[in-house]
Amino acid sequence: MNAPERAERQVSMNHFDLHCDTLGRCLSGRKSILHNDYSLSVERGLLFDKWVQTFAVFVDDDHRGAKAHQRFLAQVGKLKQAMAESDRIVPYDKDNIREGVCNAILAVENGIALGGKLERIAEFAELGVRILTLVWNGENELGGGFESETGLTDFGRKAVRELEKHKIIIDVSHLSRMGFWDLCEVAERPFIASHSNCFEICPHQRNLDDLQIKEIIRRGGLIGLNFFPVFINGESDASFQELRRHIRHIIALGGEDCIAVGSDFDGAAMPTVLSSVEKIPDWHKNLCKHFDDAFVEKITFGNAERFFRENL
Ligand SMILES: [Zn+2]
Repeated sequence: MNAPERAERQVSMNHFDLHCDTLGRCLSGRKSILHNDYSLSVERGLLFDKWVQTFAVFVDDDHRGAKAHQRFLAQVGKLKQAMAESDRIVPYDKDNIREGVCNAILAVENGIALGGKLERIAEFAELGVRILTLVWNGENELGGGFESETGLTDFGRKAVRELEKHKIIIDVSHLSRMGFWDLCEVAERPFIASHSNCFEICPHQRNLDDLQIKEIIRRGGLIGLNFFPVFINGESDASFQELRRHIRHIIALGGEDCIAVGSDFDGAAMPTVLSSVEKIPDWHKNLCKHFDDAFVEKITFGNAERFFRENL
């Protein structure tokens, strides 16, 4: 993109996404994360100046023990394969975010991937895992998701300490309310909700209530805005305006430094206006009509960039 076009668009062209499920979708569909026709491919995302993309390795609640671990390794393999094939995707380095490439963060969505073994955490850290979502919707060895009545187990509490020791960021998206407050008793480092919105605006159990949002703010964490319409307005499609209501709500609670992006690309049905990564610039442009440029830069990139610089 040349300079006049950029000026005309008045958009922030950095993008930091805390969550997508493209690895799992590509594994099932036998596609590459470099080129595919899903919501996100590395090729189609190369329109940003600085682009940091978290790739979550999703392991569902039916995979246990060795099977869970195998599923994890297969997806990590997908990411490493893409990095071997192309110089357009590189491992994220908090001190050197490169322009014109995809700076990839490896995450694990569902602590079930630990296979019930605490020692796997050191192995994950070694493999480059930087974020771990403790649970998915149901229960695992660590605790319960939003569909359960379970908090954190003893193993879950031990896992939290071990994750913090290895500087793997804890992610509370999907966690039950009880699990959230159990975590607050043990956690000593800030944590994130990588892809969750506001319950007060859209009362879905996957969204965060005001007490949770205030606690994340108090601890200096992050909340990644999820584009899934069911978590924006409870319907099958959603507008920029409806997504903005969540932003304004978090600002009203004092969280302007905690708002980030957690698209959920390839993990959920996306709204028409944000159906794929190439539509992100339209969203930035729309945000710039309603908020000042410095704030737009913070929520689309700066807040997350600062958080990882300080906490990894
Ligand atoms: Zn998820």
